[in-house]
Amino acid sequence: MDVWTRTCLAIAVLSVAPSVGAAEAPDPVPRPREVAAGVWTIPEVPVPDREPDGNTVVFAVQDGLVVVDTGRHAWHRDAILALARQQHRRVLAVVNTHWHLDHVSGNPALRAAFPRLKVYASGAIDHALDGFLAASARESARYIDDPAIPAATRDDIRSDLQAIQRGTVLKPDIVIDASRVLALGHHEFRINLAPFAATSGDVWLYDEASGVAALGDLVTLPVPYLDTACPDGWRAALSAVAATPFRIAVPGHGPPLTQATFTIYRHSFERFLDCAASARSKEDCASQWADDVASLLAGGPARDPAQTASGAAYYVDLLRRGAGRSRYCEAN
Ligand SMILES: [Zn+2]
Repeated sequence: MDVWTRTCLAIAVLSVAPSVGAAEAPDPVPRPREVAAGVWTIPEVPVPDREPDGNTVVFAVQDGLVVVDTGRHAWHRDAILALARQQHRRVLAVVNTHWHLDHVSGNPALRAAFPRLKVYASGAIDHALDGFLAASARESARYIDDPAIPAATRDDIRSDLQAIQRGTVLKPDIVIDASRVLALGHHEFRINLAPFAATSGDVWLYDEASGVAALGDLVTLPVPYLDTACPDGWRAALSAVAATPFRIAVPGHGPPLTQATFTIYRHSFERFLDCAASARSKEDCASQWADDVASLLAGGPARDPAQTASGAAYYVDLLRRGAGRSRYCEAN
């Protein structure tokens, strides 16, 4: 299974390169990082053969904590719960930026720990449970017992299948159906709905008090995860982010961005989509992307340009197969 097909329990299976001994690697312990007073990120920790976790952002508010995205793996949600214990605060709200399993799988554990919390998200998961996720479950079930797939990957596939089977518990209590100011724990957040972007309903959030924006998978590094993407809506969403005076923007995957580095990302993304829509070779588009974002990856875990280019090439193919978008884009 190619690493680029595993973003959110993806479907295509291209190649398998088991990592020797990776299955025995101990679980990582994600370390919260305070990016502004009372605002933390809990970053994803890449582990060989494992699917990703989306970054989490945690805001301290008057009555508790607001948690943006809950990760996929137990170690990620444990890090959220540990931060709540350390801060002596309860989680009163979860905001899911989108329904990909690396962002919502921790919801049930947080609900169990804090039964009164409310989950806020767009209603896009309803279609996804019947569409992309159902198809993913059908396709990936056959790999659970395939010895050619690394044991750790099969373990993740199994967990993802269980999450899909219990999918209704991942749904929001409160559906975000328009952009608006929302008071959570007496703290006002600007909640933005981006229709038909990375999914059919992405939510991103801006906290004026701290200057922190949580963008979900509208920004992902090392490559844009276009598995369920509608690129036109995605461009529009990035344009709305660009018009927001954030100080720090936390992406769904990758390190926090400043206005300057976000601008690099946005221009790289647009050039990548333009290239994919042109007659240029996919290798051209992929290496252009890897060059464009090289400064954003420097020093991080995903800094191998060849691997970045291979991921970008995968998504050029995906866009070209779908006439410029994912076949799971539901926009008219
Ligand atoms: Zn993600």
